[in-house]
Amino acid sequence: MSTTPATLWHATTAQPAPRAGPTAGDSADIIIIGGGFLGLSCALHLAQAGVSVRLLEARRIGWGASGRNAGFVVPHFSRADPAMIRARMGPDAGGRLLDLIAQGGDLVFDLARRAGLGQQAEQVGWLQPAHSAEMATALQARVRDWQALGRPVEWLDARAIAARSGMTLYHGALRDASGGMINPLAYALGLARLAETAGALLHEGTAVKRIDRAGDGWTLQTNAGPVHAGRVLMATNAETLGAARPLGRAVLPLTVHQIATEPLDDETVARIAPHREPASDTRTNIFTWRLDADNRLISGGMALVPLGAASRMPQKIVQRAIRELRLPSHTALAHAWQGTAAMTTDALPLLSQMEPGLFGAVGCNGRGVAFTTALGRGLAQALAGSAPLPLPLNAAPAIPLRPLARHAPALVLARGLWADARALRQPPGRQSSSL
Ligand SMILES: Cc1cc2nc3c(=O)[nH]c(=O)nc-3n(C[C@H](O)[C@H](O)[C@H](O)COP(=O)(O)OP(=O)(O)OC[C@H]3O[C@@H](n4cnc5c(N)ncnc54)[C@H](O)[C@@H]3O)c2cc1C
Repeated sequence: MSTTPATLWHATTAQPAPRAGPTAGDSADIIIIGGGFLGLSCALHLAQAGVSVRLLEARRIGWGASGRNAGFVVPHFSRADPAMIRARMGPDAGGRLLDLIAQGGDLVFDLARRAGLGQQAEQVGWLQPAHSAEMATALQARVRDWQALGRPVEWLDARAIAARSGMTLYHGALRDASGGMINPLAYALGLARLAETAGALLHEGTAVKRIDRAGDGWTLQTNAGPVHAGRVLMATNAETLGAARPLGRAVLPLTVHQIATEPLDDETVARIAPHREPASDTRTNIFTWRLDADNRLISGGMALVPLGAASRMPQKIVQRAIRELRLPSHTALAHAWQGTAAMTTDALPLLSQMEPGLFGAVGCNGRGVAFTTALGRGLAQALAGSAPLPLPLNAAPAIPLRPLARHAPALVLARGLWADARALRQPPGRQSSSL
């Protein structure tokens, strides 16, 4: 039913034999649709709480964004900080969301340890370097805000970030010691193993076409026949396949391009990542870099023009990495792939109850590794009755003019390129300000 994604992770991570689909008439108290981090974390924590749970995945575990991402474990949102979340959501709901974000890093690395990921999970911290004086000021406020909540977040000055990245353009950096990096496919497969050990039933090659009300519960029409559930959680991200359509249409799908190079030499590694920390800077045309366990460099980007982007972007991303990090000019591209991230219009995640007992959660805006893991656990606790819902319920209306609106991120990027270039004309040495 599906081809294997061409990711670094799929090329280097052993996959188990496909899991069988359900038998027509099978049932569970809770059925989860989607075998990414969100669905798997929820299945694991429900099974641990003694709830009968099945997970239905249309292709293979980790086929979606969870097996295609860059594996940066970032317990932060892309465009929200604590002050903004509290202002927007109020102290209670905002506080619960901040708790979820805060838990994400430690939870991922704890689960990765339990799943035996070894060197495929490194809790070495995460860096967010500031490319302008304005962003340095904003990040310092964010650092203070998180520190007030007891999080292991610190500010590094321009000299410190230069020593940790070999790059002199940054005005400083936020460092979160609870972040780091993983092999995301190995992590998804590890979560699946933990969930099965705890008693969850996982099915692959099982697409849910339709969901129908049946008495107090639900019948899910799948390619393997109907299956029955008391309650349903859709964890289908930006997909619009079959039953996923209503949730998928509530977010904007954003294509993200990723590359990995051949392994770098030891001298280059020591210069660009002496502490092995992954980094994502503050430019609109964000520059990201990390190493994998074999010291391949991983970076990514978005295309301004979608037409032909899959063949154009990989070389563009490698050339940018060579330029920015002053890599040896012969550094070769080894893997290139794409995935789809789910963007919400307010850059915050969305939890919806479409009908009583039919939930959908989506929208981690490109920062989903840590957050979906924590959200999956929070939803499991709520569905098992031991905690309130981790996020307020909201409607999930389809985004108006979605075919046009999906180009909005490219427009933001186009405008941001100009602002990025202008900011970079003022390197840190010329700023006195807060550094
Ligand atoms: C290229 C890329 C790079 C990224 N990099 C990072 C990063 O470095 N750090 C970070 O924090 N975040 C990153 N993200 C975001 C992160 O990967 C996602 O937020 C996260 O993986 C979402 O997990 P999920 O479980 O919600 O969805 P997914 O992993 O997409 O899982 C959804 C699953 O649902 C299944 N499905 C859909 N419809 C049906 C149906 N009808 N029936 C049955 N199954 C169905 C799909 O097959 C899919 O496997 C990145 C995203 C992309 C695309």
